[in-house]
Amino acid sequence: MLPSIMEVALQHELKSAELDDRSKRKKRSVKDVRFKCPFCKATDHPKFKDKYYLSLNTEDNVFQCWFCGESGGVLKFIALLENKSIEEVKQELFHKGNNRVQRKLHPAEKLTPSQLQSMGFLTKNWKKPSPRDLDWIWSEWLLCVEQEKRMGYMFFLEANTSEQILVVIHEYACKLSVNPEDLLIEFSQAKFANKKKPKWAELAEEWLEEVTL
Ligand SMILES: [Zn+2]
Repeated sequence: MLPSIMEVALQHELKSAELDDRSKRKKRSVKDVRFKCPFCKATDHPKFKDKYYLSLNTEDNVFQCWFCGESGGVLKFIALLENKSIEEVKQELFHKGNNRVQRKLHPAEKLTPSQLQSMGFLTKNWKKPSPRDLDWIWSEWLLCVEQEKRMGYMFFLEANTSEQILVVIHEYACKLSVNPEDLLIEFSQAKFANKKKPKWAELAEEWLEEVTL
């Protein structure tokens, strides 16, 4: 059985206005409960401080944010909250500790919903991909990573202040769904490597040389 979306939200300590004063509104149906959306930045802004755009439907066990549009079922909800892939979440929920049932995941099955979304996949009618599709998704992802790293690295080299560097690092860490600190280390190592640089770094540097000549 799937976990309840409400319990998942509470385990992850999402904030809800309705739950705090539910005692005052006992008669109100709790089918739809509003939370602060952890997937969009709207609620970080002072203007949106007290807005609760994430709607959890406890009957259908689904979620939807009215601000950023993120939506889906409980498995995707957990995957987004824990930055895991849906297949990883399934294995943890249903086959934990049972190595016989646990199969080895294709690298494409370890892509998180945000990573799939950045390539335009994972629409509402997402079907389980065939092994051939998985190979293709994985090769698309590798291409996407090369491109984003090349672009990000170019902006990183062009940045003049530490503020600008941080902005670039955060933007591209978000696009690639990686830890910003790891990306900063990777870019810095590429910059100061005097021998073999990764392909994306070589291409970015070549391009920058051409435009500055
Ligand atoms: Zn949102």
